[in-house]
Parts: sequence; C-alpha cells; structure tokens
Amino acid sequence: MPLLNMRLARPKVLVDINKISGLDYISETNEGNISIGALTRQRLIEKSTLVKDNLPVLSTALGSVGHVQIRNRGTIGGSISHADPAAEISALCLALEAEFVLKSLSSERIVNSESFFLGQLTTALEPEELLTEIRLPSLSDGWRWGFQEVCRRRGDFALVGCVALIRLDDNGMCQDARISMFGAGDTPVRMREAETRISGSPVDSPALDDVARLVSEKLDPVSDIHASGAYRKQVGGAIARRSLEAATNQGKGA
Ligand SMILES: Cc1cc2nc3c(=O)[nH]c(=O)nc-3n(C[C@H](O)[C@H](O)[C@H](O)COP(=O)(O)OP(=O)(O)OC[C@H]3O[C@@H](n4cnc5c(N)ncnc54)[C@H](O)[C@@H]3O)c2cc1C
Repeated sequence: MPLLNMRLARPKVLVDINKISGLDYISETNEGNISIGALTRQRLIEKSTLVKDNLPVLSTALGSVGHVQIRNRGTIGGSISHADPAAEISALCLALEAEFVLKSLSSERIVNSESFFLGQLTTALEPEELLTEIRLPSLSDGWRWGFQEVCRRRGDFALVGCVALIRLDDNGMCQDARISMFGAGDTPVRMREAETRISGSPVDSPALDDVARLVSEKLDPVSDIHASGAYRKQVGGAIARRSLEAATNQGKGA
C-alpha cells in the first residue's frame, strides 16, 4: 500500500496474500529461538508473551511503529519486504541477526538480514519469491538491550533511531556489542567500528564518547523536509550513546 500510495508502483495485477493460511504464527524452536510467520500482525507480536519473555526489545520497539491502528493491520513480513530505511523492525532484525525464509514455487532459501536489505525500498527478494518466515535468535545468555529514536511526533517514522545490544561480564566489561541504526541511510546499518571500540572495554564515559563520535562519522544520511543530514548524523551519535547506556543500566535481554 505505501508503494501504491506514493505512486512508486503501478502494478497491473495486485495479489492479496492476507488469506494465505499458515503464515500467521509466533513459535519457539527447540533451541529457544523465535520463528514468526510473515503475515503475523505487528500488534500481535508486540503483545505476545512469548516475545515479551524472550525478546523484550522487540515488544518495546514495536510500540514505536506508527500507531495501534497501523500495527493492527501491518504485518512483520510487509514491513521487512517494504524495506523503509526508517523502519524499526528492519533495524531490530539486523541487531538480532535474524534470518529470513524466502520461498518461490520451485525453491526455498534462507537469507540473513545483513544481506537482505540492499537499498531504499530494495531487498534481496526475487520477483517470484515470498518472505514466509522470520527467524530470530533468542536474547538469552546475558544480552541487555537499549532502544531509542527521535521523531517529530509520537508514531511518526523516526528521523533517526538505534537498537543497541550489549553483553557484559561480571565486572561490567563489555564482551560483545551490536549497534543497529535506522532512518540515517539507505538501509538500516550496523556500526561495526563503534561495536569494536566498545567490545572488551568498560562501558564508561570515554568509551561512550568514542561510540557517539564513531557513529556520527560513519552515518551518511540524506537531508529531507523532516531533518538535515547533519542533524541526523549528530543526533545518531547521541542516541547510540544513550541506547548503550540504557542497555548497560536497565534492559536485560531475557
Ligand atoms: C500512516 C502510517 C504510519 C506508519 N508508521 C510506521 C513507523 O513509524 N515505523 C515503521 O516501521 N513502519 C510504519 N508504517 C509501515 C507499517 O507498519 C507497515 O509495515 C507497512 O505499511 C506495510 O504494511 P503491510 O504489512 O500491510 O504490507 P503491504 O503494504 O501489503 O506490503 C508492503 C510491500 O511488501 C511486499 N510484501 C508484503 N508482504 C510480503 C511478503 N510476505 N513477501 C514478499 N513481499 C511482501 C508488498 O508487495 C509491498 O511491496 C506506517 C504505515 C502507515 C500507513
């Protein structure tokens, strides 16, 4: 619908996939990971106890996707396939290192989230393929999370946002970090340099200052009527810092 509304697509034929049965589910695998059918409504995922218990960052961040009416209709697969670079769900998938199951009549393949998002509204989906399932590794094993975004009004697409995951040892040293930014480039993007800087380090002011600087330097956002690229770069660094602080101080993964 967004593509039609923006007149970016004028298809001769429109196929309604709403009634394909069996693509609307949230389940837990034997390994404790979460599988979500592509036609599952965003609101169902937000409210799911299974998701709240295993991936609280996903439940929390979904609360920032548009408004309740949008999430009642919008599907997880529709958001991922649409690939709006400001979409929260795509950035979450990148941070969680999700895998996507893509099916056609003749084949099935699994694509990881980092290889899936190719550009603005552009993905690795071939014309004859359907995204059928999203596979999300559970956030057990000591992961903590932080989620921050800046938008003009609640429910708007983010001007820039961040999903941060961090794993600390008993002494508060960062063992592992993932920082996924959205709204500040053609696709959601992992901040590898910043992740490397904080990994193996205490999460203190010098490290967080470096993360903010590295994220700002790395982002390459466009200017549009909502915000300038320079604003997005600066705010992106600041909210990456805040997300990591939030992850360190509050959010426990599971
Ligand atoms: C007013 C408004 C505000 C919004 N605000 C936000 C926001 O703040 N953050 C945010 O992230 N999103 C936001 N959205 C997007 C919304 O949450 C939905 O993700 C989006 O509209 C897609 O809806 P849909 O699931 O019905 O997919 P559709 O509109 O039906 O499909 C979107 C695209 O994906 C393709 N597609 C859909 N499902 C599949 C599949 N399984 N396999 C292959 N291709 C598929 C379709 O062909 C189409 O090209 C907003 C939308 C609206 C209308």
